[in-house]
Parts: sequence; C-alpha cells; structure tokens
Amino acid sequence: MSFTEKIYRDEDVDLGVLKGKTVGIIGYGSQGYAQANNLRDSGVDVIIGAGDRRFHSGWDKAEKDGFTVMSIEDAVKKSDVVHILLQDPAQPEVYYSSVHANLKKGQTLSFAHGFAILYGTIKPPKDVDVVLFVPNGPGPVVRQKYLNGSGIYGCVAVDQDVTGKAAEIALAIAKGVGSTRVGTILMSFQHETEGDNFEEQVLYGGAIHLMRGIYKVMTENGYPKSFAYAKAIRSIRSIIDDIDEVGIEAYLTGRASRTCEFAVRTSGPRVVNYDEIQKIFEETERGEFAKRWLLEFSQGMPVLNRMRRTWQDSDMEATGIEFRKRFGLS
Ligand code: NDP
Ligand code: MG
Repeated sequence: MSFTEKIYRDEDVDLGVLKGKTVGIIGYGSQGYAQANNLRDSGVDVIIGAGDRRFHSGWDKAEKDGFTVMSIEDAVKKSDVVHILLQDPAQPEVYYSSVHANLKKGQTLSFAHGFAILYGTIKPPKDVDVVLFVPNGPGPVVRQKYLNGSGIYGCVAVDQDVTGKAAEIALAIAKGVGSTRVGTILMSFQHETEGDNFEEQVLYGGAIHLMRGIYKVMTENGYPKSFAYAKAIRSIRSIIDDIDEVGIEAYLTGRASRTCEFAVRTSGPRVVNYDEIQKIFEETERGEFAKRWLLEFSQGMPVLNRMRRTWQDSDMEATGIEFRKRFGLS
C-alpha cells in the first residue's frame, strides 16, 4: 500500500526561500529553544522575541545561548516570519498586546499548533500568510534528534496564503528544524489541532491513568512499591520502542511471551472503552474540549492547580523519586 498524502523530505524542500529572511521565534520554552537552535544550525537567520525578563525566563536563556533577543514587539517588526512558540492559552493576550499591530503585509505568521486559529482566539489580518509547523515531539527530543543527524516526523498547514509561498515557507521551517530529514506532511489546521487534542486526551490521558491504576491496585494489595512502579511505568518504556520499531504484530508474536500475547489480545479490550474514545472524538470536533480548556484557563486553572497539588503529594510520585534514585533510567 502507499499513502495518499505526500511525504516531504529534504530533497523536496528548498531552504533558499528563507534566504535573506529573518525568522523571529516568539517564546523560548520547550519548542522555542529547540526550533531556534535547529534553525540557526541549519543556517537560518534567527532572532528571539521574549516577554519582560523580570517575569519570563526566556530572555535570559536565549541570550545565554548566544541569540539576539529583543521585546516581542521589536522581534515582530524585524522578522519576515513570526513563529509563535508561546504556550497556547497565553497566545491571544500576547498576540493582541504585542504582535497584531506590528504585523506588516506579506509577513508570515506561523504557529506550532493550530488551536488559536481554529477556535478564533487569534484573528490575523487578511494580508499576512498564516501557517503552522509542528514537530511531533517535545522540544528536547526535537533538539537531540537534530544533533544526532535525524529529526522528528512533522506536519505543516496553511490557513492563509497571500504571498503564494506560504506552504514553501512553512516547509522550509520544517526543513530547518530537521523534520524533512524523516518526513513531513501537509494537512489542515483543523486536523492538526483536533488530532493533537484528541491524542492528548485519549492516548496520554488514558496511558497515564492506566499507570496510576496499576500502581494503586498493586500497592493496595501489598505488592512492593518499587515493583508496582516498575510495572506501572518502566515496563511501558521497554516495549514502546520495540513496537515502534517492528509493529504491534511482530512485537506480540516475536518479542513478547506467549502468555503476554494472550493477555494483551483477550483482556486488553476490557480495559479500553471504545465508546468513550468515540465520544471524546466527537466532543473535540464540536469544540467542546477547547471550550472547557479556555474556560479553565480564563479562571486561573482551578481544576489543574487542585489536581497538581494532590498528584504531586501522592505516594506514586514519592515512589517515583526514590525509584529513579535507586534504579536510574536503565
Ligand atoms: P512552553 O510553555 O515550554 O514555552 C512557552 C514560552 O512562552 C516560554 O518561553 C514562556 O516564558 C513564554 N511565555 C509564556 N507566557 C508568556 C507571556 N505572557 N509573555 C511572554 N512570554 C510568555 O511552551 P511549548 O514550547 O510547549 O509550546 C509552544 C507551542 O508549541 C504551543 O503552541 C504548543 O502547542 C506547541 N507544541 C508543543 C509541543 C511540546 O511537546 N512541548 C509539541 C508540539 C507543539 P516563561 O516560561 O519564562 O514564562
Ligand atoms: Mg499538544
């Protein structure tokens, strides 16, 4: 079989479209750090726009890494491509206070997630390109893979194309960050955003709650804590690379034990609620997840703050600290 989507690789993308242009990275956190450094190492002219250094750490960090750092307003004025790498819920406020009024006709406004554009919390002027580029992984991994000569699968989308070059520019950013070394696809803002929000709810949400469930039941039933922790977290780490490398079937039939294969195939479906997965997908498509999250953020994140407190103080977290001390990352 072959994919219907085009997979862009290094040879399909011209970094030259960024020649003579300045990319302003706005925000120097997980993605900002990784993407700015990779782009610079790829020969792209990068400047950093950071929040007030009294309140935000990005300015000092970027300066220490040898970048030219300036206020977000100045970086927008001096850039041809404005790549917004601020945390998502903070974007609208920063955008309207520091970015919007400084955008010029023909500039490229770029994101690493489509949330603000899809849900309309940011409405860019009609005379700029609006694109996104997302590497499918956290910043430190994006940086490490690049340094190892590899990259992370990426996606690019175009929401407004006034220059006729919006896709080329977004793909060039992908190339500079290293994502076309392995493959990058073009998709829609809607699919990027909702796909990401769906994955985070179901895969990350489901997996983390399964880890907690395993640890809870085992320790409540008298198992040694280090053993319960290893079963809850370390064991998934040891299989996921295998599955990614050879596929589910080859893992189950060739690398897992026969008992494990039987357990996975017969009991696994009882743990997962497919109807709920479908419901979460539909809620995401109706914008209900986005609405809940925007409401939570606008109220100062009371649910998250409360949950952080109880989870941080949990027995599982304390065990994790001790576990890592004793057993390292092996
Ligand atoms: P981080 O939270 O790691 O970094 C955000 C940066 O923005 C920090 O430098 C932060 O500074 C700065 N910032 C936050 N609020 C303000 C403000 N009000 N004024 C000025 N600066 C501010 O975010 P990520 O790198 O995780 O996310 C950036 C984008 O990348 C998001 O759109 C996200 O969806 C996307 N993305 C993230 C991935 C990930 O794994 N992390 C993966 C793929 C995409 P300070 O911390 O000092 O306040
Ligand atoms: Mg995300």
